Amino acid sequence: MPAAPPPVLAPRRKTRQLQVGRVGVGSDHQVSVQTMTTTKTHDIGATLQQIAELTAAGCDIVRVACPTDKDAEALKVIAQQSTIPVIADIHFQPKYVFAAIEAGCGAVRVNPGNIRKFDDQVKEIAQAASDHGTSIRIGVNAGSLHPDLLKKYGKATPEALVESAVWEASLFEEHGFRDFKISVKHNDPVIMARAYELLAEQGDWPLHLGVTEAGPAFQGTIKSASAFGYLLGKGIGDTIRVSLSAPPVEEVKVGLQILQSLNLRERRLDIVSCPSCGRAQVDVYSLAEEVTEGLKDLTVPLRVAVMGCVVNGPGEAREADLGVASGNGKGQIFIKGEVVKTVPEDEIVETLLFEARRIAAESGLE
Ligand code: SF4
Repeated sequence: MPAAPPPVLAPRRKTRQLQVGRVGVGSDHQVSVQTMTTTKTHDIGATLQQIAELTAAGCDIVRVACPTDKDAEALKVIAQQSTIPVIADIHFQPKYVFAAIEAGCGAVRVNPGNIRKFDDQVKEIAQAASDHGTSIRIGVNAGSLHPDLLKKYGKATPEALVESAVWEASLFEEHGFRDFKISVKHNDPVIMARAYELLAEQGDWPLHLGVTEAGPAFQGTIKSASAFGYLLGKGIGDTIRVSLSAPPVEEVKVGLQILQSLNLRERRLDIVSCPSCGRAQVDVYSLAEEVTEGLKDLTVPLRVAVMGCVVNGPGEAREADLGVASGNGKGQIFIKGEVVKTVPEDEIVETLLFEARRIAAESGLE
């Protein structure tokens, strides 16, 4: 009998479906992880190299900035040679939107409201995107909200973000173009979460989640995890980008970890380690760090418990695939609930790493 699917907090909100290249987006597909390159897009070699690193880290879709003619010209090679679908990020210039569509980008991030302001080519963009099977992301951002909305609402409130998004959506939909997702980003996770909740009630658009300008890694991770956990826990959200003042590989790792924590992705290495306390008989912090580092490349699901004493240790270690309960200078090693051996403290890490690799190899999945 196949294993029951892992529990999630709520079913996904039903959305329309679209493609970003070969990646399906919407409620029929898994939530995908995105990030953005930090290279100059026209430096094709560096950009493709960074995309390869992001792909290896588990990124599903990558966005590249396209502020100049040189960047637009580079899109063709990048879209063809990228290991994952590419989204071109364009703000005002319709000519770059057409270039990105013709270059074979999986999607373009552009707000039709901006295009209309300068040169109303929304209809032609909708037609070109439709002809090429290119999808669009409408990206409403608190920092670039229309002045009329700022005047009406006083600041970038959830209602203001949503009004802007619904209006932008209507500019494509009046031309029959429906293959777009929407983001309504704000740097405050509470405002952001409320905006997405309101937007989710107003249409079946797939939603791209992001807390914008979330800050350096520590703060940004927590802001994103809080807001995404709240929304994804209610089934809202189809793609995510964790926005950090840190390298994009870190954004991908955090994004994947959020999805794994919510059972929206299969958990890989799941370390269960105790916080340590006055009863600890071993340095739990180092032990947990060393085991995490030593197994970070593991590609099969494996729960490893690292426990500092024999109070809660055996219980947690028994529940895991592999575990250790430490005490009296020794570690009791558990595999699938059974004590298989006791090793001296200085052999705990190497024993756990060895046994983890053995279990992974025997699973036939690694
Ligand atoms: Fe403290 Fe032991 Fe619990 Fe770790 S397992 S927190 S050392 S009681």
